[in-house]
Amino acid sequence: MHIVMIGTGYVGLVSGACFADFGHQVTCVDKDASKIDGLHQGRMPIWEPGLEAIVSHNVQRGRLTFTTELKPAIDTADAVFIAVGTPTRRGDGHADLTYVYAAAKEIAGALVKPAVIVTKSTVPVGTGDEIAKILKDNSAPEGTSVASNPEFLREGAAIRDFKIPDRIVVGAEDDHAREVLREIYRPLFLNKAPILFTGRRTAELIKYAANAFLATKISFINEIADLCEVVGGDVQEVARGIGLDNRIGPKFLHAGPGYGGSCFPKDTLALLQTGESYGVPMRIVGSVVAVNEERKNKMADRVREALGGTLQGKRIGVLGLTFKPNTDDMRDAPSLSLIAKLQEGGATVAAFDPVGIEAARPMLKDVDFTSDAYAAATDADALVLVTEWDEFRALDLKKLAGVMRGNALIDLRNVYEAGEVIRAGLDYRGIGVPAVTAA
Ligand code: NAD
Repeated sequence: MHIVMIGTGYVGLVSGACFADFGHQVTCVDKDASKIDGLHQGRMPIWEPGLEAIVSHNVQRGRLTFTTELKPAIDTADAVFIAVGTPTRRGDGHADLTYVYAAAKEIAGALVKPAVIVTKSTVPVGTGDEIAKILKDNSAPEGTSVASNPEFLREGAAIRDFKIPDRIVVGAEDDHAREVLREIYRPLFLNKAPILFTGRRTAELIKYAANAFLATKISFINEIADLCEVVGGDVQEVARGIGLDNRIGPKFLHAGPGYGGSCFPKDTLALLQTGESYGVPMRIVGSVVAVNEERKNKMADRVREALGGTLQGKRIGVLGLTFKPNTDDMRDAPSLSLIAKLQEGGATVAAFDPVGIEAARPMLKDVDFTSDAYAAATDADALVLVTEWDEFRALDLKKLAGVMRGNALIDLRNVYEAGEVIRAGLDYRGIGVPAVTAA
């Protein structure tokens, strides 16, 4: 199969490289010439474990190429995937479909023979219909069809998720599209990956329903964490106690600073807007969004409380900036709102992240970026663990206590156990667990 992938970001590059690894011929197209130049020189535009090896292997095998020009790439394509961004539209919370529709128009102008156009971007229900209309209005060849194939990979584990998915969802309205997508994913059938064929609109909805449900689990356990703090419970044990129930499951029950990242915030907002547009209010998702927003804003209050009620003149060390470990993605990271609020309160911030500093630099003003965790802690009145990178899981707590000016450790990911922290001479505050003060 010859596949063209439009958009060479977190989803497009991983999907393109993995399809090439299955043996397909893949051309990745991106408008951003600097990304394509970098890829030609073997430089990855994103940080994703294992990606560089799989890209370079398939480039060497001649199965994976990169270009900024769609027209020459599309001549022999069996399938053209759209994997461009669908960020929140400014002002109203709808998904911004500008890039998707622009790509559809470019495809229509470039196709010389029919192909299956597949939306991998997360798009609201009905977008496939609109793409079909754009293709028709712009004289795409007769027989061109439109399918939906939402992507469920997680940054940080993207290659594994792509190659060993829980399921593949294909929404298509004709047999040809179904057959082409079955053939593209055939190498995965060996792993018994379930493939769910459904209608295009249903496939579009599945993606939003999945993300909204996962976000709901997170906001739910975060509210339980708040209750635990007031009544003297331990949210980690509550999560384990409910997660062992197969009907609930243990995943996405980690209390923390609120969800962030490039998907949940924008996708929950977009689902709310879809509900509004069709007169079916998504009340549960509305609460999930409100709980999360309020939570993100409250994280700085925890730091203020740990510092005796004021942030003025305090120095705060922040460990972890990316929205989760094993990615350089800073989109909607909880660290951004936290740091802004700490600075608003009069604190200065020193921060360290193992890979996210370059992406964070343009988004954060007046932050002292350091070269390791201990440097971020040096002279700090409080240290806040925001992203649970592996290298923050076994810090030398005595060494931290030794370099800090104050003694407050605020662990927003419950990485540490209170006892070990107070033995090192630091006060401990986690999420939904009792705060403990060093003797
Ligand atoms: P991204 O911003 O990393 O990449 C998008 C790329 O598309 C950019 O490189 C941009 O230059 C390129 N682009 C835009 N318009 C183009 C055009 N007309 N022609 C060629 N290139 C064009 O975005 P992403 O994180 O990969 O997300 C892409 C889509 O996948 C979104 O809809 C997102 O919601 C969805 N998704 C993302 C994830 C994730 O973890 N990031 C997971 C599942 C689904």
